[in-house]
Amino acid sequence: MDMLDIDAIRREFPILSREVAGRRMVYLDNSATSQTPDRVVEEIVWLYSQEKANVHRGVHTLSQEMTDQQERSREHVRRYINASSIEEVVFTRGTTEAINLVVSSFGSRFKAGDEVILTVMEHHANIVPWQLLRSRTGIVLRVVDINERGELDMEQYRSLFNERTVMASFCHVSNVLGTVNPVKEMTEYAHGKGVPVLVDGAQASPHMKIDVADLDCDFYVFSSHKMYGPTGIGVLYGKRKWLEEMPPYQGGGEMIGKVTFEHTTFADLPFKFEAGTPDFIGIAAFSKALDFIEDIGMDNIASHEHALLEYAQKRMEAMEGVRIYGTASEKDAVISFLVGNSHPYDIGLLLDKQGVEVRTGHHCAMPLMDRLGIPGTVRASFAVYNTFEEADSFLAALQRAAAILE
Ligand code: PMP
Repeated sequence: MDMLDIDAIRREFPILSREVAGRRMVYLDNSATSQTPDRVVEEIVWLYSQEKANVHRGVHTLSQEMTDQQERSREHVRRYINASSIEEVVFTRGTTEAINLVVSSFGSRFKAGDEVILTVMEHHANIVPWQLLRSRTGIVLRVVDINERGELDMEQYRSLFNERTVMASFCHVSNVLGTVNPVKEMTEYAHGKGVPVLVDGAQASPHMKIDVADLDCDFYVFSSHKMYGPTGIGVLYGKRKWLEEMPPYQGGGEMIGKVTFEHTTFADLPFKFEAGTPDFIGIAAFSKALDFIEDIGMDNIASHEHALLEYAQKRMEAMEGVRIYGTASEKDAVISFLVGNSHPYDIGLLLDKQGVEVRTGHHCAMPLMDRLGIPGTVRASFAVYNTFEEADSFLAALQRAAAILE
């Protein structure tokens, strides 16, 4: 049962009242980025207009206030993901940069012939950095396949581990299929083989509670902009033992202890991995996005989104010519589909003409598209502010688009 006051939630998002193509817009591209509530926007405006000063370098009041705001946000993230200390919370530009950081820095210990396990449902952000490392070092990439519902072949996953395996890196939730992977079980298995694990949480963190202590993963990465927060910032959680051992990712200001031309020492964690001026305003304002999620409650968000998913998916399954990609038993609020032989762009355009905003294409997961034997899909993805009326508008628009394309 839906207990949320969605109207009240929507009032925090003026963009949801705008029009597209002369109709009330229906925003269903939340997997690409979610909208941002007023409290986050107001915080950004407040910080720019009243608090802006560079962090960490100043003794003056403004600099100290801004530093406090940034570090309060770090503590909030720590609490939110249940990390054991703020030293384990590194701010990055997003999921992509966080993965690149781990691959470059942690990956610097890997040698030719070492094997890294990925899955066929990874976003390019969790494929291409590993390929760049492969061309530098000669590591080998092993890939776990999926079944017809879009669930990982767990038997194959387990069988890929051998004495050369040095890392496993996989998404928590697929941005195409919506599949929720059993990451705790996968981590436990990898650890049983002495293999550390990176979890790409970009699509999980907006939709479920993240507890890195419970998952016991070595690295967990996610982006603020998919979690109702500002663009351009993300988080790398890493176990302290690894972060301490790892070399810096980038050099520059903020990440040093002492610098001479002969020798440089590095700052303590987490600053060793935060070279240069960070997006301190975005970081500070991210805390308000976490407030937004916590005020509603992640359990309430998840059950509302699941109700929407079930409602829309059931009706789409009954529509002639509609094929859904990804029907895992554990699935998040994402529906990828195609209609007849139509190209996804044509469906997307016809939906846009009716005010419905969905994503079309390969969703930065070309190897998955190859595996499915399709050029791309149309993807509708839900957030907490979406309503059943919007789901109906989308379904009606899809019916009309399908009739036109027949
Ligand atoms: N991984 C997954 C599963 C994603 O869905 C995305 C964003 N589409 C990313 C990584 C990359 O996130 P960002 O662009 O915020 O770095």
